[in-house]
Amino acid sequence: MVSQRRRLSAASIGRLQQRFETLDAAEMIGWAIQEFPRSRRAVVTSLQAEGVVIADMAMELDPSIRVITIDTGRLPEETLTYLETLRAHWDRPIEVVYPEPADLQPFVASHGVNAFYASVDLRKQCCNLRKVLPLRRALGDVDCWLAGLRRSHSPARAAVPPVHLDTDNGGIVKLNPLIAWSAADVRAYMAERGLPMHPLYAQRYTSIGCAPCTRAVEPGEDERAGRWWWEADTDKECGINGVRQPLRIVEIAS
Ligand code: SF4
Repeated sequence: MVSQRRRLSAASIGRLQQRFETLDAAEMIGWAIQEFPRSRRAVVTSLQAEGVVIADMAMELDPSIRVITIDTGRLPEETLTYLETLRAHWDRPIEVVYPEPADLQPFVASHGVNAFYASVDLRKQCCNLRKVLPLRRALGDVDCWLAGLRRSHSPARAAVPPVHLDTDNGGIVKLNPLIAWSAADVRAYMAERGLPMHPLYAQRYTSIGCAPCTRAVEPGEDERAGRWWWEADTDKECGINGVRQPLRIVEIAS
């Protein structure tokens, strides 16, 4: 069967990268809405503030834009409560995708329910099963997705482009409209629009993921220091955003 999926060439993406460096977030989102049919574009958010901002901006341009989130099965209760808060605030559905039990069962049987604490490799396997694969399934009918990465999030994200081909998900277009925003910009937008905040931000969380893998941060720590806090010298990424950084080799004195 011939694929109906729309693909942009690497050359087109290169030109868009140059152009989008000078566009603001609403203009980038507007481009995606104009360029792709409604059923084939989506905002993907973990319900952190950045994704909520993008969803809100996109809804201003297309009230029925698809909004997708992943329930990994290990989210904090506060995130599920917040999902309901947002559904009520926007008065519209949010698509929720889940890991496949058949994917998880062999992993949990072999390594236990908290395997992520045992090694970086097992942590990344858990993220793959609970986040990467569900997202891949969700994006199966999507040609362009939008996410809330900021360059100021972490050193690993400092060079994130405004748009790129997501080769992990079939070469579709991935848009990062908030790359130039600061955390203060995000808070200001949320306040101006009267958007409800995820309740964990009030408890010194600056980045929010699964409950066992996220903690509050201390003053002066990096924004993403509370993610997989027991890991040293990793990129603090789960694999869904295409951000990769080689692990630093640490010499251990013998
Ligand atoms: S953040 Fe933790 S619990 Fe969630 S998918 Fe990754 S390793 Fe698993």
